[in-house]
Amino acid sequence: MKDNYGREINYLRVSVTQRCNLNCVYCGKDSCAKKESELSPEEIYKAVKAFAACGIKKVRITGGEPLLREDICEIIAAVRRIPEICTLSLTTNGVLLKKYAHRLKEAGLDSVNISLDTLDREKYKTMTGADALESVIEGINSAQLEGLNPVKINAVLIKDINADDAEKLINIAKDNYIDIRFIELMPFSDSGAQKDKVVTGRSLLQKFPYLIPLPESSGTARYYTADGFKGKVGFIDPISRKFCRECSRIRLLSSGMVKPCLGYDASYDIMPYLNDEEKLIEQIKKIIISKPAGHSFEESGPSYGLNKTGG
Ligand code: SAM
Repeated sequence: MKDNYGREINYLRVSVTQRCNLNCVYCGKDSCAKKESELSPEEIYKAVKAFAACGIKKVRITGGEPLLREDICEIIAAVRRIPEICTLSLTTNGVLLKKYAHRLKEAGLDSVNISLDTLDREKYKTMTGADALESVIEGINSAQLEGLNPVKINAVLIKDINADDAEKLINIAKDNYIDIRFIELMPFSDSGAQKDKVVTGRSLLQKFPYLIPLPESSGTARYYTADGFKGKVGFIDPISRKFCRECSRIRLLSSGMVKPCLGYDASYDIMPYLNDEEKLIEQIKKIIISKPAGHSFEESGPSYGLNKTGG
């Protein structure tokens, strides 16, 4: 269905936990949050079914770290049962992906995005607080072997930390059938993300002029290739190229709250309606209609980090 600004809202992100096994420098301060009440697979099923009745066709499971949920395959299988959902994908830091890749595929997962900001072991440790680069690489390989395609890597570059890792990350797309996407650092006030540390997509394109634009760019990502590249190079620039006018997303949090916009403080509780499908659909429609025109990163930035809302 369309929101108040005529945008077709068809993409739901479901954060299944706030807990994480990493502590990334730019994510929320409280990344290792304790287990709070988290929606069960059955509750997620009921909610997503109602979202599907409102026009949702694509679902991405995220967190926190979704693979910390021991019932993650049940969650995937539950969402897969909803016929209107055409695409079901998951965003992970990849640390536990080797263990789960096969079962996730069997449960009905289509594809994965893996977050990886550097290929340098020491820098990875500094940025995430864990010596886990090797596990992530193994996770990426397992995802490819299981056919969780397209395998995409998401990287956030930060000035003075990993900005000079861009070329090595781009070369992943040169040598593999993997897309690498650079996401501009978003200044959530609860995180260590600062506006003056953002590496813009434009600055990267100036630095790597051999990248050639592809026609398949979507509302959020612009895609490029280069001679001999197997994968694509993407840029998601929420700061320097605000794409809110083309936003098609809405978010369900692990607590049962719904956020119509990632970069805006408002959220709405759907838990009281979960056992009454008609009222639930009515409530979701109201929330979709209320989606704000755009994010508020130009101001102080929202008072939470992506660990709370799901990336
Ligand atoms: N744990 C999973 C993972 O690491 O992919 C899913 C959750 S994580 C919050 C999702 C994505 O949000 C990651 O790719 C991460 O890099 C990104 N992210 C977190 N904080 C961010 C920020 N301040 N600016 C831009 N991206 C951010």
